[in-house]
Amino acid sequence: MAKKVLKFGGTSVGTIERIQHVAKIVKKEHDAGNKVIVVVSAMAGKTNELIKFSKKISNDFNKRELDVLLSSGEQVTSALLAGALIEKNIKSKSWLNWQIPILTEGEHSNARIVNMNISKINKFLEEGVAIIPGFQGISKNGEIMTIGRGGSDATAVAIAKLFNADSCEIYTDVDGVYSTDPNKIPLAKKIEKISYDEMLELSTLGAKVMQSSAVQTAMIYDIPLEVKSTFTNRKGTKIFNQQNIDYTKSVTGVAYSKDDAKITLIGVEDKPGVAANIFEPLNQAQINVDMVIQNVSSDQKTTDITFTIKREDLLKTKKILENNKNIVYKNITHNDKVSKISIVGAGMVSTPGVTYKMFRGLADNKINILAISTSEIKLSVIIDEENTLNAVKKLHTIFDLD
Ligand code: ASP
Ligand code: MG
Repeated sequence: MAKKVLKFGGTSVGTIERIQHVAKIVKKEHDAGNKVIVVVSAMAGKTNELIKFSKKISNDFNKRELDVLLSSGEQVTSALLAGALIEKNIKSKSWLNWQIPILTEGEHSNARIVNMNISKINKFLEEGVAIIPGFQGISKNGEIMTIGRGGSDATAVAIAKLFNADSCEIYTDVDGVYSTDPNKIPLAKKIEKISYDEMLELSTLGAKVMQSSAVQTAMIYDIPLEVKSTFTNRKGTKIFNQQNIDYTKSVTGVAYSKDDAKITLIGVEDKPGVAANIFEPLNQAQINVDMVIQNVSSDQKTTDITFTIKREDLLKTKKILENNKNIVYKNITHNDKVSKISIVGAGMVSTPGVTYKMFRGLADNKINILAISTSEIKLSVIIDEENTLNAVKKLHTIFDLD
């Protein structure tokens, strides 16, 4: 008998039939003698629909009211699932965030869970299944707060931690974490075991299976996760500490994203303090700079600086650069038709030549590299967007992942 947190994503509870199917999965776990806490997302598309409604009223819809509005999606699915379980003669109850309460800190639409009253629910688990809406909580002033898009994953991990659960299972519409996007690359393979760090890199770099901040929390508190399918019985992917994994390959997965843009400042003065002057106002505006490349100056006076940012920040960034009185340059160019391709693997640390192999592979396929960044377990490059799938496919083969 174990204490289990089961989280069901939007597609898993997307229709009434699916909610009934989820009830069957939950019943099975309950009948096996486990104490079960279920966390649910809103029905697929619901949160987006609610956001659209708010935008019809105002593009700058009141933040407090937006959180009240968006939290309703998960409340609907909580009640429907509890009702479906009761129909199956299982004692079940849903709690709204303020009834528990789930306490959060931080801003509207971007709060984080800091604590929760577990006593009532713990007591209820002796007899029934507890259903908790993901993605929300209340502030210390009692205001309803949401915790960022995809936040039901974070709710599940926080609950697993606070209730000291034995496992945290993330049920979704794919049957695990894949070596790359299985919808685009048919040779993608399911990964059986992956470390928190690798999963974190993959989800930050474009793999959409789990919310990055939820993986981060799981890593900090060493909460083992399993990503599995609501719709098949296949084994999922286990995410845990690196010590539990034997690395036979240098690369575990290839991720890609089209969220970045590249800016180049041409003819910048080459003297101390210039880079600081460029990036200071960007930092103040909370624009996240990812990769930076500065060329050596050929005339000892000027150089070019290229950097990447989120695509959505492009206009804002250009404006800040153009208004920056502390820098001198000849020209600004930008390119938002780029994509970021990353190879991720804890096995890289002990394998020499991974960098060369990646660059050689791209070169042999005539793919130009526009920027590079590395960390201990990942290597990312920016390339032209049109080469995205070709590059991913080739790297997947080169690193023996097909
Ligand atoms: N319903 C929320 C969203 O769509 C939270 C979640 O599904 O995890 O972002
Ligand atoms: Mg989700």
